[in-house]
Amino acid sequence: MKLQFSIFTKLLIIQYLSILCVSQDFDFFYFVQQWPGSYCDTKQSCCYPKSGKPAADFGIHGLWPEYKDGSYPSNCDPDGVFEKSQISDLISDLRQNWPTLSCPSNDGTKFWTHEWVKHGTCAESELDQREYFEAALKLKEKANLLQALKNAGIKPDDGFYELESIIAAIKEATGFTPGIECNVDPEHNSQLYQIYMCVDTSASEFIQCPKQPRKKCASTVQFPRF
Ligand code: AMP
Ligand code: AMP
Repeated sequence: MKLQFSIFTKLLIIQYLSILCVSQDFDFFYFVQQWPGSYCDTKQSCCYPKSGKPAADFGIHGLWPEYKDGSYPSNCDPDGVFEKSQISDLISDLRQNWPTLSCPSNDGTKFWTHEWVKHGTCAESELDQREYFEAALKLKEKANLLQALKNAGIKPDDGFYELESIIAAIKEATGFTPGIECNVDPEHNSQLYQIYMCVDTSASEFIQCPKQPRKKCASTVQFPRF
């Protein structure tokens, strides 16, 4: 009798845990934007998209589902495919705001497919493919990072800026503290490379980061021209 009860209890616990797992696919998003000048300065081989040199503005890298413990899911749908037809009316917006810089020169489909298959498919409980790309475009407009930095006198002029003043400028403009990732150019300068903002699971509001992404920046960083 005692044994039967414990098996029953265990089954209940297993059932409860499986419901928890299904209902919570991820905890928040990192919305990652990238400075093209830094990508091109470091990766000797950056190539402009077929449509031409992107604007001197931050570009979207991705919208990544995250867990609070610092880990993240990826490639969640083994049958996941990117269907360009679902977002044909967003393509010109994506070209402008989510530009590819990889070589050889291409139209961006490869980068968008990679981001959707690797990261987007892990948010499918919240957003379908169209909603995923639309949400990212809206978030970029909302953050308006280049303007936030310009308002604080921080411009892509090859100058060096205090990391803390970059963080403060974005906090002032958006209300939230970003995570900053740097890279190192061939002259060993630490450069402003990617800016991470945290977003709620519906991909509509910035939130305070439950977990700050790791940073690799010097206390003073270069903001290269593009
Ligand atoms: P890294 O090793 O930081 O250059 O990252 C390489 C790639 O791993 C990124 O472009 C992402 O696709 C992925 N990655 C790294 N950290 C995360 C994270 N916290 N969440 C989602 N993807 C990540
Ligand atoms: P993660 O795997 O983001 O999602 O992204 C890492 C991959 O995306 C790497 O292969 C990077 O080289 C590539 N990547 C990062 N930024 C860009 C970009 N602007 N254009 C094309 N590929 C990129």
